[in-house]
Amino acid sequence: MLYKETLHKLIELTDNKEVTPKDIYDSLLRRIKQKDTDINAYVSVFEEFAPNDKTGILRNIPITIKDNMHIKGKKTTCSSKILENYTAIFDATVVEKLKNEGSVFIGKTNLDEFAMGSSTETSYFGTTRNPWDLTKIPGGSSGGSAAAVASGEAICALGSDTGGSIRQPAALCGVVGLKPTYGRVSRYGLVAFASSLDQIGPITKDVEDAAILMNIISGKDPKDSTSADVAVDDFTKYLNTDISGMKIGVYDKVLQDCSSDVGKSMEESIDIFRRLGCELTSVDLPNAKYAVSDYYIIAPAEASSNLERYDGVKYGFRADNYENLKDMYIKTRSQGFGTEVKRRIMLGTYVLSSGYYDAYYLKAQKLRGLIKQDFDRAFEQFDVIIAPTTPTEAFGIGEKANNPLQMYLSDIFTIPASLAAIPAISIPNGISKNSLPLGLQIMANVFREDNIFKCASAYEKEFNIIKNLPLD
Ligand code: GLN
Repeated sequence: MLYKETLHKLIELTDNKEVTPKDIYDSLLRRIKQKDTDINAYVSVFEEFAPNDKTGILRNIPITIKDNMHIKGKKTTCSSKILENYTAIFDATVVEKLKNEGSVFIGKTNLDEFAMGSSTETSYFGTTRNPWDLTKIPGGSSGGSAAAVASGEAICALGSDTGGSIRQPAALCGVVGLKPTYGRVSRYGLVAFASSLDQIGPITKDVEDAAILMNIISGKDPKDSTSADVAVDDFTKYLNTDISGMKIGVYDKVLQDCSSDVGKSMEESIDIFRRLGCELTSVDLPNAKYAVSDYYIIAPAEASSNLERYDGVKYGFRADNYENLKDMYIKTRSQGFGTEVKRRIMLGTYVLSSGYYDAYYLKAQKLRGLIKQDFDRAFEQFDVIIAPTTPTEAFGIGEKANNPLQMYLSDIFTIPASLAAIPAISIPNGISKNSLPLGLQIMANVFREDNIFKCASAYEKEFNIIKNLPLD
């Protein structure tokens, strides 16, 4: 039953020599065999335990990695046909840092193709299913990572978040997911989707595990010029602290857009924080309501440029039966990318084209500045801002797959923090009447993950969510 445990518990057990890392690995492999035919969380599983001789804190405990980050010698598919047979030739910085702390890896998890989506349904390798209810989506794009952690197919995992891809699946699978401040964690070796938004972060069973992983993966990296030169903190020191007196802004304007379950769980959250001695006041973020529209100009614009490199020459798949170079490009990209990725590339190319650049892209950048200003103003007054992570519980597989606008709206609460480059966590916030998990989002000012950890750790004690996870 080792697969059920948290990372910190397993560190303790291996330290006391009560279990060996091989026991943990074998327990996970058995669990994956038992569950993954249904859940489809993994794109690849590494059957062989390959111990690492480094003596760091991770003690050869296996970590799971979203399949858009490189592990040298392993495939990185981004759940796309175009990279189906691509083998990574170097380690992502986060992977290198985990290896240096003595970690091993057990597999790579499913995602929406190139991390574009909110349900993991755009994966070339098929949908991941929510372990709480196999007819529901697990969220996305890090749906494989979140479903693996929630079902005990992983001890903990890394995901990536561009507009909500760590927080939204964490919420819908009942686990913890943190998107760090933009620049806190190196993006080197993370396949780029929208470079000004992409960030890597932990998906874990509890807040302490998120702090442990953040201690390892944070820090300036000479290989990523956008990584920030900020000292690496020990985030575990913010756990289990007294949060009375903390000032919390409640982004409650949004509650009208939520299901009644989500509204109710937010009301309960407010009561809980009051009991913990915090001061809560409503906060307005007047421009946040434009965030989804803004994001769907900026993210596709960057994606259209980043995905130019998949041309049948430099990487991966190449179509057969082409007549000349141009025909090869067209056939390769037409056959290699799925519908959602093509939609983003076309949208992005359009908003960057010379006649529309000012009207769309430049305007979107200005709006991004206004959204950031709303947060700057709010954080003069508040230590953190809380909001639901998602407007509803997990929806049904297929329910929104053919309606991109509906799908895009499932990220209305996560996208503002992405545009503002601020850190935000999703933590379990109870269970809906349909027995599906809900998430509470806690946002803080740039590089104030300390406030997030204080708040999330104090709050987490209210829900014994690990007990509720579908781990049996
Ligand atoms: N769902 C959003 C999108 O489709 C966000 C994805 C992400 O954060 N990678 O772009």
